[in-house]
Amino acid sequence: MKNESLFLSGAKEILSPDSLLTEPEECAPFASDWTRLPGNPSAVVLPKTTAQVASILKLCQNLKIPVVPSGGRTGLCGGAVASKGEVVVNLSRMTQLTPVNVASRTVRVQAGAVTQSVHEHCAKAGLLWPIDLAAKGSSEIGGNLSTNAGGVRVIRYGMSRRWVVGLQAVTMNGEILELNEAVEKNNTGYDLVQLIIGSEGTLAVITEATLKLVPIPKNVSVLFFSVDDLPSLLKLFEIARKGPFEVLAFEFFSAKCLQAVEEKLHRRSRLSRGAEYYVLMEIEEQGRVDDWLSQLLESTIVQDGLLAHSSQEQRDVWALREGITESIALTGPVRKYDVSLPVTRMLSFLGEVLESIRNLRIELFLFGHFGDGSPHLNLVKPANASLEDYEKDCDRFEEKLFHLLKENGGSISAEHGVGILRKNWLTFSRSKTELALYHAIKKAFDPDGLLNPGKVLGQRSPG
Ligand SMILES: Cc1cc2nc3c(=O)[nH]c(=O)nc-3n(C[C@H](O)[C@H](O)[C@H](O)COP(=O)(O)OP(=O)(O)OC[C@H]3O[C@@H](n4cnc5c(N)ncnc54)[C@H](O)[C@@H]3O)c2cc1C
Repeated sequence: MKNESLFLSGAKEILSPDSLLTEPEECAPFASDWTRLPGNPSAVVLPKTTAQVASILKLCQNLKIPVVPSGGRTGLCGGAVASKGEVVVNLSRMTQLTPVNVASRTVRVQAGAVTQSVHEHCAKAGLLWPIDLAAKGSSEIGGNLSTNAGGVRVIRYGMSRRWVVGLQAVTMNGEILELNEAVEKNNTGYDLVQLIIGSEGTLAVITEATLKLVPIPKNVSVLFFSVDDLPSLLKLFEIARKGPFEVLAFEFFSAKCLQAVEEKLHRRSRLSRGAEYYVLMEIEEQGRVDDWLSQLLESTIVQDGLLAHSSQEQRDVWALREGITESIALTGPVRKYDVSLPVTRMLSFLGEVLESIRNLRIELFLFGHFGDGSPHLNLVKPANASLEDYEKDCDRFEEKLFHLLKENGGSISAEHGVGILRKNWLTFSRSKTELALYHAIKKAFDPDGLLNPGKVLGQRSPG
């Protein structure tokens, strides 16, 4: 690191000794995220207050030291990877939660609060921050907002950015921005809260947020179905939209995904075998679901189905869906794509994907948020293929995939973000003019390009 001794003496004045890590083995857990891309930070700081975050950023700005903001490190696109000797600013020690404000249905939390702990805190007041994802036991609010996380209930509630009233964030030069605090309505120009949400730590470090809450849905049931093919999956979705309930989640996965979860994590599905796809539907009942379900089971749309009433039964079905990412990671080398497109085009798009992968040395594990038009494509190396052949075929497929998305009005990232992994493909989802504006915005916040460098944007503005 340039100016290492000046950084260390400055940081020691700002932080307590236990908040500054410099030994490689201490820093290693903070070097990367779920992608396991290699990282080698020069130091890791674990601030406990916003004032400490501000002082550290100011110190790094003055010494021209690059900084990587980091949370629970469950990111799937390399956004929190520190691969060039950066200083990692990890927020995990800033976990305070204020009492829930029941009247305004809001809660103020620090950025390092784990998503699940926020859920548990709000549940005591009968309220919910409605962002729910399989990584919720480790992901943090700062990471959720920086990636504008989606999750399994987007079909009902939308993405993270809808559930934020105000933010506190620190810019690279150490300025603390208090944006909107707890005001619901504020039509006074550009919305910096929304600009910082989804910026993947490239504009400012989020230190606190005022989150908007909803009442916990009542009469929640989980339905689990098996279907023969993709057209049946789409039919089931269309019928579900007309059912006597509100759909909270409509998740799908292929037989291969179920097999991986059963084999690697020893979880069991109670449905009969032999289907191509499975659907987990979470619903808030508003009428006679039993009648609706019996009619459906008599039709040819689904092969088999069950209604999980008890909370244990519901957890068992969810455990199948939530175990997919982990079980695929245990299967072999994997490339992941979280793409999105209008749900009405899912059928033809997925058909083309299956067709173009047919003769490649790739095993496709298909799952995701069908109801949001947001499938996750996981390309796993077959046991009998060499790594080189598999990588070559993945590159071929990737190019085809992004062209297909462009033709279908889709996006190269639905919810995981751009990070390192998608930045070279950004032109498939954003125009030249949009990208030029992105570079100008980045320059306005961080003129020296020190905050999370090399993430989201390339080095230069497109000409
Ligand atoms: C099993 C599994 C399931 C997942 N399911 C979903 C899903 O359904 N939907 C979904 O959207 N994602 C999903 N993810 C991806 C991941 O959990 C989300 O992107 C999550 O929001 C990341 O939060 P984090 O705290 O782990 O952030 P990190 O991985 O630590 O960081 C993510 C990005 O945010 C930046 N960042 C972190 N904290 C701050 C801060 N305080 N201020 C500024 N920038 C910051 C980092 O620099 C990085 O760019 C899943 C991941 C796993 C492993």
